[in-house]
Amino acid sequence: MARRSGWLLATIALFAQAIAVATAAETLRIGGDADYPPYHFIDANGQADGFDVALAREVARDLGMEPRFELGAWDDALERLARGELDIVPMFWSAEREQRYLFTQPILIRHHALFGPKSRAVLDSLDELAHVRVAVQHAGLAWEALRAQAGPGVVLVERDNEADTLVAVARGEADYALAPTGIGYYAIHQHGLRDMVALSPPLLERRYVFAARHGRADLVARIDASLERLRASGTQNDLYVEWIGNLSAPRGLPWPAISGALGALIMLGGGTLAWRRRQRAGAPVAPCATQNLALLADLQYAIDHDRLGYAFQPKLDLRSGRWLGAELLVRWHHPQRGPLAPDEFVPLAEQARVIGAMSLHLVRCGLQQRRQWPVAEPPLHVSVNISANDLADAGLVDALIAIHRRHGPGLMLEVTETDVMREPDLVAMALPRLRAQGIGISVDDFGAGHSSLVNLRRLAPDELKIDRSFVTSVLDSRSDQAIVMAMIGLAHELGATVAAEGIEDDATRDWLVAAGCDIGQGFGIARPMDAEALAMLLRTQA
Ligand code: C2E
Ligand code: CA
Ligand code: CA
Repeated sequence: MARRSGWLLATIALFAQAIAVATAAETLRIGGDADYPPYHFIDANGQADGFDVALAREVARDLGMEPRFELGAWDDALERLARGELDIVPMFWSAEREQRYLFTQPILIRHHALFGPKSRAVLDSLDELAHVRVAVQHAGLAWEALRAQAGPGVVLVERDNEADTLVAVARGEADYALAPTGIGYYAIHQHGLRDMVALSPPLLERRYVFAARHGRADLVARIDASLERLRASGTQNDLYVEWIGNLSAPRGLPWPAISGALGALIMLGGGTLAWRRRQRAGAPVAPCATQNLALLADLQYAIDHDRLGYAFQPKLDLRSGRWLGAELLVRWHHPQRGPLAPDEFVPLAEQARVIGAMSLHLVRCGLQQRRQWPVAEPPLHVSVNISANDLADAGLVDALIAIHRRHGPGLMLEVTETDVMREPDLVAMALPRLRAQGIGISVDDFGAGHSSLVNLRRLAPDELKIDRSFVTSVLDSRSDQAIVMAMIGLAHELGATVAAEGIEDDATRDWLVAAGCDIGQGFGIARPMDAEALAMLLRTQA
């Protein structure tokens, strides 16, 4: 008996050992500063947290490794990395550091910005700084840049860390702070610096990477491959949005502490929830390259500082030949990249929380412009494109209604068909509230998605807008002609007017008139134009 149990114990011990060997994952030791939010820091519960931490955790999971975070003093982290006591430490890339470390591909593109009170002048670059005091972290990247670039009479007010530079400005000890954008926005909220805003576009673009010791090329290659996978799956972007992309809303902040444009952005924070819902629903989410992350930060800046432009494309009543109004199309002239088409940034804005703020801004602009238009019968309307994400957010719908009360009437919202069908219930909930305010609803890109008639009937849109792809080819394709005629019939059946977009020539226009289409829009009728040209066009008709 004793022998048997001895054998049993030995077997169990062997077994346990085998399991232990099989499960003893390789450890990934990650170092960094204990106080560097929102990138890496020790939170109130003593846990490592932040964007870098969350990303490193995902990398470790992806590589089947066990992450161990050892955050402490920054200098210490660098020394321990050199001694091989840590595997990776997140940091800015620099040519000088590249002599000492191996770097992964960028995990972020980081920027600095000038911060200061709202009342202070907005500057486009560091050389415009003259005869002012600028708070800056001692011996950091910003400090070096200021010493090299700032104009005459600039006094550097040095602080030990970047967040403190904003505090110095709030206390009147400096005029501007030059700090990384993520840290700047974070500090504004953390310290309740209500009056402080970014006063420059993103400056000092820098790659932010994980650094490893020389001799760890194998590890760096594995991490790079893992980062590639996290990017492709959208995980990296997800973490970015959670920690940094939504600069205006760091986690755990009491709502009343936030005011102004940033506060308005937070109100719209449901965007990410809606985005996650979409992800779950299996909607494709494009991978977000690091470049795009930088673009997103620039876009947020452009919205905050009223740097987004727009064009108007008139809409024509095909029967009477009278103008009915115009569609507002967003335009963005990026300071470095030049003019960007909406397709280059609208989908990105939708992925992050930026789209809501953009939509509200454009609705306000559209309604304000409409006030310059002549009075007409029926009243002219301005159409603004909006994403169903926005309509799925009750807070944003409230804000839309408030803007319409203040600057309306005469608003029509264009929601694309695919979007509507993705969130039919949420959109359907918003519509009665908008309709009660006299806001019209148009289903855009009609025919390009997969509408169910049940859903369409429930939405009771005011307008169906036939997708450009059918209109452009209608004269050449019998099947497109049949489809367009069916769509016109369906729209009328539902009590909606029907608009055709993308009319490029008179023959197409004539065909559509004969087929019973109500409204026309396209290069063949009028190209998108600026607000002044449009107001003039409408006045000649009046
Ligand atoms: P959309 O709503 O279908 O807008 C019409 C697009 O077709 C515009 O391009 C317009 O310039 C173009 N277009 C107009 N007439 C013709 C024509 O005769 N032929 C051809 N080939 N094209 C014509 P744009 O401005 O590049 O906008 C592209 C898309 O970006 C829009 O498609 C819309 O989905 C989105 N978008 C534009 N502005 C906004 C906005 O303010 N907010 C949101 N959420 N999306 C916007
Ligand atoms: Ca549209
Ligand atoms: Ca369209």
